[in-house]
Amino acid sequence: MTTSEGTVQGRTQIHGTAPRNRAFTIVLLGDGFTAAQQTAFNTACTSFVTALTTTAPYDKIGRAINIWRVNVTSTDSGADDPAGTGGTGMTARTYFDATFGANGIRRLLVCNSLTVLQTAAAQVPEFTVAIVVVNSTVYGGSGGSVGTYSLAGGATEIAIHELGHTAYGLADEYAYYAGGNETGHDSHPAGEPAEPNVTRVTDRSSLKWGWAVAPTTALPTMSNPNCATVDSRPSTVPAGTVGCFEGAHYYHCRAYRPEYKCKMQELGVPFCQVCHQVILARTKAAKNICALTPGRDAVYRYDGSGSSWTRIGGPAGQIYAGAW
Ligand SMILES: [Zn+2]
Repeated sequence: MTTSEGTVQGRTQIHGTAPRNRAFTIVLLGDGFTAAQQTAFNTACTSFVTALTTTAPYDKIGRAINIWRVNVTSTDSGADDPAGTGGTGMTARTYFDATFGANGIRRLLVCNSLTVLQTAAAQVPEFTVAIVVVNSTVYGGSGGSVGTYSLAGGATEIAIHELGHTAYGLADEYAYYAGGNETGHDSHPAGEPAEPNVTRVTDRSSLKWGWAVAPTTALPTMSNPNCATVDSRPSTVPAGTVGCFEGAHYYHCRAYRPEYKCKMQELGVPFCQVCHQVILARTKAAKNICALTPGRDAVYRYDGSGSSWTRIGGPAGQIYAGAW
C-alpha cells in the first residue's frame, strides 16, 4: 500500500517536440501494473496520446504539448475496490495505493496524490499535470491535484474529462452527484462556483461566458420544470447553442452549464465552446512565448514548432509574461 510496494523504472517521452521549458507537459504514471504488465501500461499511454491529439481543441494545439510516461511497478495488479461502496472487496498492494470508493462513491478513484506529485517532479521536473493510469477494468476516475482513470471501456474519454479538472480547473457540468435523482441535490446552494464553466448567474451582462452568447439566445435557455429530478428533456435549441442550461455542478436546479452537452457533462461528446476556449487559452499560454532582442529593437514570437521564431514588432522597452 506504499512505495515499498513497487519501484519507479524511469521515464519515456511519448509525444511532442516542444521546448521542455515552454511546453504544456503531461506526465502519465502507472499504478497497479506489475513488472510483467508494463507493456499494458505502455499501450494504455499510447491510446491516451492518440485520443487526446484527435480531440478538439487538442487536435489544433498538439505541438504545444509534451507527454511522458513514467513506468512504475506494483507488487499486485489492480486497485483496492472496497465492498462498502459496492466493490468486490479486493485489495491490491500498489505503489500509489489507488482505491475506488472515495466519498462513498465506487467510481471515485483516488490515490496517494503526494507520492504521485513527488514522483512526477523527480522524473519530469517541468511537468504541468500528472495523470495516474490505474490497471483495473472497474469504471472510475477523479480530477483533483492529480487526475486518475482506470482501464474500463471508454478509458481515454474518462482521462480527457479528468484532465479537464486537473489541468484547467473545469467543473463537472452534470446535474447529479451519486448518479441519479438523489435527495439533497435539488437546488445549488448560494455562492457563485469558482469554475469557469458553471454558474448561478443568468444575467446577460454579468454572465461569465457572456462573450459566447448570441444576443438572440434566451437566458436562461432551458429551465428545469421539476427540481426534484434531473431535467432529461431533449434540447430546445440547436446543438452548439451557448446559453444557460439549468442543471449543473451536481445539482438539478439553480446552477447552469453553457451548452446542452459537453464532455465535462457526458463522455463521448465534444467539449462545449466555453470549456474549449479555456483549454485553448491555458494550453497556448505555455506555447506562444515572446522574446526581446538584447538591443531591444525587435520582439519575436515562438510559435511552438522547431526553431521557428517570427518577428512581431518592436522596438520595445519591456515585454510581459503570458499569452501573446
Ligand atoms: Zn463545458
